Parts: sequence; C-alpha cells; structure tokens
Amino acid sequence: MLIILNNKCNFTLNQFKQYSQELTTIKTQHELVLCPTNIYLSITPKSEIVLGAQDISMYHEGSKTGEVAAKQLKSMNVEYVIVGHSERRLYLNENDKQITEKLRRSLEQDIIPILCVGETIGDYQQVVSKQLEILKNIEHFENVIIAYEPVWAIGSGKTPTIKQINEVISFIKKIYPQNKVIYGGSINEFNISNLKSNLIDGYLLGGLSLNSERLKAFLENLE
Ligand code: PEP
Repeated sequence: MLIILNNKCNFTLNQFKQYSQELTTIKTQHELVLCPTNIYLSITPKSEIVLGAQDISMYHEGSKTGEVAAKQLKSMNVEYVIVGHSERRLYLNENDKQITEKLRRSLEQDIIPILCVGETIGDYQQVVSKQLEILKNIEHFENVIIAYEPVWAIGSGKTPTIKQINEVISFIKKIYPQNKVIYGGSINEFNISNLKSNLIDGYLLGGLSLNSERLKAFLENLE
C-alpha cells in the first residue's frame, strides 16, 4: 500500500532533522512517501522512504520567481507530488486550469501526481466527478493517483464510515478503473482498524505524519 506523509507547513529545521532521523528506523512492507516542506527535501536522510513534494509549479523552469519546477523536483529525486490539495484550493484559490497544468508538468518529468478530490459538505458524486473531469485532458491520466479526501474529514477528527469510503471509491473506480485510489482525512493509529478495505490502494496522512511513534503504531495496525 501507498502511505503518503503530508507534513504540510510544519517543523523548524532542528525539529525536522530529529523527526526525519526517527523515520529512518521504521520497517514496513508498505511504500512510505515523505512529503516534507520543499526546503527540507535536500536534507531528508537516505532511507527506504521515497520522497514526495506537496506542490509543484504549473510552469516550466525559468523566470518564475518563487516557484519550484518539476525538473527541479525531479533533480532532488522526488517521485510523487500532491496536486490540488483542498487547502491549496481554499487558501490559494487553486483552480482546475492550474491543477491541469500541474498534473502535466509532473507527468512530463515522470513524477507521479496524487490528485486530491473530495466534497466540502453533502453529496460527493457531483463534486468528485466534476473535479475528476480534468483527467480527460491529461495524456496518460491512468498514472495519476486519486486521493479521495472529504474536506470535512481533513484535520477534523471525523471520518466517513468504511461503507461510505468504499461507496465513493467504487464510484471513482467505475469511471477511472485504471487509476489507483487512496483515502485521506483524519486517519490515525486507532481508527485504521475500522477503515481498511480491498478497494483502498493507500492512505494520505496529515496530522499523523508528524509523529513517528504514532506513525509506527498506525503501520502496525495496518498490517
Ligand atoms: C490532509 O491534509 O490531506 C490530511 C489527510 O490531513 P489529516 O490526516 O490531518 O486529516
């Protein structure tokens, strides 16, 4: 299974050094992908943990002040990138046009994009299918990993039931049968026992990713 660790905008340098060192002691059969703040990519200790980024520029490299281009991420051995996280859609007004370009830039560099989708409130079908429509404009869209993250579940301590998650993932897989689909939103070391399913290809962890001991407990309970 794919386990994405989204550190978001957390850790000072010394905190990150200690945390990332602790991560190197984790033994797991799952593929762990660490997405630190970009400035820490180069100091992440070498280990079995794969590197990911939390965002990517929609532009090619060059005169784009403040941006981090796909080619640059690739040169840092980044293998995955989170695209269209709800926090970026909300706080940075990221739109479908930008998200489409970000998916294209990632795939051009063989960086696997993890496209986040999910409803804010109410019925998921309309929101999720609309957010996924952009895949129709993407060459090799089958290489995009879809992360179902109901916005109301992110950081709230609330999760859908496994029945509800299965229903949404089945809905997504019916439209995009070739794509991997992972779940994210308030997953922790305790609720994981009730949130496993054959339909889920992995999990995206926000808050839980920040604590290596809790992460180890999660991985034990996942096995
Ligand atoms: C997220 O932000 O993508 C996320 C899943 O966060 P959390 O696990 O904290 O809900």
